[in-house]
Amino acid sequence: MVDATPPQLRGHVMENPSRRLTARYILALVIIAMLVSGGHFVMVRALTEADSDSRIINLAGRQRMLSQRLVKTLGELTLVEPSRPAPVLRDSLMSDLDSWKRTHVGLQAGSTELGLPPVSDPGIVAMLSALDDVVAALAGLIQKSGHEDALTDQALMREAHALSHDFVTRMDDIVFAWGALSEEKVVGLKRIAQAIWLLALLTLAAEAMLIFRPFVKQLSRSHHDLQSRARELERLAMVARRTTNAVVITDEKRSIQWVNEGFTRITGYAPEEVIGHSPAMFQAPETNPEAIALMRSRLSEGLGCRVEVLSRRKDGRQIWLDLDIQPLHDEAGCLTGFISIQSDITERRTLQYHANTDVLTGLPNRRRFFERLQAEHKRSDRNRSAGALLILDIDHFKRVNDVHGHVAGDKVLHTLANVIRRTIRQTDFPGRLGGEEFGVILPETDLSAASHLAERLRQQVEAQKTVVGGAELEVTISIGLAAMGPDRDIAEVFHLADQALYKAKGAGRNQVVVTEQ
Ligand code: GH3
Ligand code: MG
Ligand code: MG
Repeated sequence: MVDATPPQLRGHVMENPSRRLTARYILALVIIAMLVSGGHFVMVRALTEADSDSRIINLAGRQRMLSQRLVKTLGELTLVEPSRPAPVLRDSLMSDLDSWKRTHVGLQAGSTELGLPPVSDPGIVAMLSALDDVVAALAGLIQKSGHEDALTDQALMREAHALSHDFVTRMDDIVFAWGALSEEKVVGLKRIAQAIWLLALLTLAAEAMLIFRPFVKQLSRSHHDLQSRARELERLAMVARRTTNAVVITDEKRSIQWVNEGFTRITGYAPEEVIGHSPAMFQAPETNPEAIALMRSRLSEGLGCRVEVLSRRKDGRQIWLDLDIQPLHDEAGCLTGFISIQSDITERRTLQYHANTDVLTGLPNRRRFFERLQAEHKRSDRNRSAGALLILDIDHFKRVNDVHGHVAGDKVLHTLANVIRRTIRQTDFPGRLGGEEFGVILPETDLSAASHLAERLRQQVEAQKTVVGGAELEVTISIGLAAMGPDRDIAEVFHLADQALYKAKGAGRNQVVVTEQ
C-alpha cells in the first residue's frame, strides 16, 4: 500500500539530541563540582598545613629559648643571689624544665593541648628522636643540680652549656628541615591547585564546545525546520481549503474533525453540522453496499481505499462521490485518522448510467449485459467454477401490441423487468437484450439450480398481471438455458441458450428448455 499522504504531512522523524546533550551537561556539572570540592580541599589543607607549620616553628623557637633559659637559671642558682632566694629560682627552673620536656614530647607525638598534629615526616621524626638523649641528659643534669644547695661545679655548668648549645643547634636544623619540607608541600599543593584550575578551564571549554554549541545549533536548526514546516503546512492547508474537491479529515474512530469549503459546496452541509459526526451520515438507503463494505474493511485495517459512493446532499439530492481515503499517522507511525478527498462524479455516473441502462425497464442494456457476460465468463473460466446463461422471450408479444397498443406493451415490458429483478438472486445479473428478449447471468450456478430458478421465474411471470386501462394483461415467457463451461466462448454459450429458447418456442412456449451439454 503506497502512502499517498503528502510527504510534508508525514511525521518528521529527527534524531533528538537533547538526551545526549543533557548527559554531557550532567557530566560537566559533576566534573566541575568535583574540581571545586578538590580546590576547596587543597585550600583547607594548605591553610591547616600553614597553621601547624607556624605553630611548630613557634614552639621550636620557644624550646630553643627555654633551653637557653634553663642553663641561665642554672647558672644563677650556682651564684645564689641574695635578692632572689634560691627556692624561687629552683621552682622557676623546674617549671621551665617541665614545660621544655612536655613540648619536646608534644613536638614528636602531637599534642591537642599545644594544637599540634603528630609529625609524619620520618626525617623530622628521626631528628626529634635524636634530641631525646640531649633532652634527657640536660634534664638529668638540672634535676641533679637543682637539689643541691649550692652549685660550684664549673664542669657541670660547662656540660650544661654544651648540651644547651647542642640542643639549640639541632633545633635550628630541625626548624630548617621543617621549613624546607613545608615549602615542598606548598609547592605540591600549588601544583595541584594549578592543575585543578586548568582542568576547570578545560571542562568549561569542553562544555562550551560539546554542549553549548551543539545546543545553539540545534535550536537554530529546529527553529528553521519549524519555520519551513509551518510554511509548507500553510501552503498545504491553503490547497486543502481552496480545492474544488471536498476534503474531510476524521480521527481514527472516523469522527469528522475538519472539512473544507469544497465540502460545503458539494454536500450542502456547513462544517458545524458535520464535525463530530460519522461520514456515514451522507449515506442513503440507495447507497451502493459493496463500496461501503469495501471501504469499511480497508479502513478498519488502517488502510486507504478509493471507492465511488452514492450519497445524499443536505437537500436530499443524490450525488455520486469519488472518495480517495488515505490514513494519517503520527511520528511514531500510529494511526491518527483519515483524510478523504472527494470529487463530485454525478455527471459522469449519470452519463455512464444512461450508456449502460435500458430506458424503458431500467435494466442494464445489451451492451452492458455482454460486457458483464464477458467478465463473468472470464472469471468462471479462471476459477473453473460453474455458471449459467438464461435467455427469455415473451410469448406472442406482438399480439399484446396489436390488441392493447404499444403503450400497454411497454407497460408489460416494465412489469416483466420488475418480476425478473425480484425473482433472481443478488449475485445474478439481468439485462434487456432487445425488444421483448431478456437475459440473466447466473454466476456460480450449475444447470440444475439454474433450471429451478428459471422455472420459478416462468411461474412468477405467468402469475403476474399488468393492469392497463382497466384491463389485466397476462403474458407468459419461454426460457432457454445453457451452462457457461470452461471450453466454450461466449458466442457459443449464447448460441446454445438461444437454441434452447428456440426449442421452448417450438415445443409450445411458456416453458424452460435446458441445453444439457
Ligand atoms: P414469439 O412468441 O415467437 O416470440 O412471438 P412474438 O410475437 O413475441 O415475437 P415477434 O418477434 O414476432 O414480435 C416481437 C414484438 O415485440 C415485435 C415488436 O413490435 C415488439 N416490440 C419490440 N420492442 C418493443 C418495445 O420496446 N415496446 C413494445 N411495446 N413492443 C416492442
Ligand atoms: Mg416473443
Ligand atoms: Mg422476440
